[in-house]
Amino acid sequence: TKVLLTGGSGFIAAHILEQLFAKGHSVVTTVRSEAKAAKIREAYPSQAASGDLTVAIVPDIAQPDAFDEVVKTPGLEVVLHTASPFHFKFTDPLKELVNPAVTGTTAILRAITASAPTVRRVVVTSSFAAIIDEAHATDPSHTFSEASWNPVTLADIHKSPSTAYRASKTLAERAAWDFVRDPANGAKFDLVTVNPPMVFGPVVHYLASLDAVNTSNERVVDCLRGKWRRDGAVPSAGPVAIWVDVRDVAAAHVRAGLEVAEVAGKRLFVTAGLFSNAELGRIVRRHFPEDAELLPTEETKGGELPAEGERFRFDNSETNRLLGIEYRSFEQCVVDTVKSLKKVGA
Ligand code: NDP
Repeated sequence: TKVLLTGGSGFIAAHILEQLFAKGHSVVTTVRSEAKAAKIREAYPSQAASGDLTVAIVPDIAQPDAFDEVVKTPGLEVVLHTASPFHFKFTDPLKELVNPAVTGTTAILRAITASAPTVRRVVVTSSFAAIIDEAHATDPSHTFSEASWNPVTLADIHKSPSTAYRASKTLAERAAWDFVRDPANGAKFDLVTVNPPMVFGPVVHYLASLDAVNTSNERVVDCLRGKWRRDGAVPSAGPVAIWVDVRDVAAAHVRAGLEVAEVAGKRLFVTAGLFSNAELGRIVRRHFPEDAELLPTEETKGGELPAEGERFRFDNSETNRLLGIEYRSFEQCVVDTVKSLKKVGA
């Protein structure tokens, strides 16, 4: 099957690419720069030579015509749209987060509708950010599921950096569903969204550098480099104490895009369950005793799970029934993440 994967240089997308090739698919992927394109081609020389890998440059997904050319690749059947800003290094949340997230999403859906009639399914990487309602984040009587929507609006984007990110993901996902549901747009494909909470897991060696590690793995780098030990406390993970392994998120995209017909029109809330930074620190200490001097000790306080009475409930049983994913354990994930970070110099 021929697949278009946007944002192929991303943390999650790199695992999707690997899994697509392992299953024999051909992939056109987009990146922002020739330097990243070259790294991906070098990582997959045989696919690059055979034509099973094409890397296209899309410099800015915030342009409404960003994807107009790449969707014209003949024979595309599936599109996995993962590209969207996930960082907190912005000064203008509208320009730097919301516009690329929302316009990027509508631009690809429009381009497919106009020029890629062979596409039968589009998977958009959304987030638990589009599910959570901040007003209920510490409310034990509240259960978030595939049916839950974050009520955040554009008016909220200056409240905090994380609210701005959540708004970008919520507004982008809404725009996607609005687009396919409006018959005037004439979309001929199914839409599916994948909505993961915090994603941890190994970084692919050919793209990673420690100073530019993806946002969700930053805490693992902090822990390994001794920040938590120096601070004398493990930081709280905040109210979103649920997570999933990047390899399981990638598998969910592949299943949703290519393998499970019944997920058409669904939001897939993929999570392996609760985690805490304190547990992360304990796992690293247990498995990497050689780093003990930099790691939090048994006495270091902080970072434990919020008490049961102070955290939301969640129910993703519909997703689990549809996808049948066996989620990796937090311990396995942390160990594999640390090993991958050590390979790039942690
Ligand atoms: P990364 O930052 O590694 O990946 C983001 C990707 O989007 C990169 O390929 C990046 O390109 C691209 N991108 C960002 N902004 C732009 C832009 N303005 N124009 C073009 N491309 C852009 O993060 P993740 O892999 O974690 O994120 C992938 C997706 O998963 C995102 O949609 C994110 O919202 C979502 N997600 C992530 C979670 C997590 O915990 N990691 C949780 C839930 C959802 P470049 O490499 O050039 O920077």
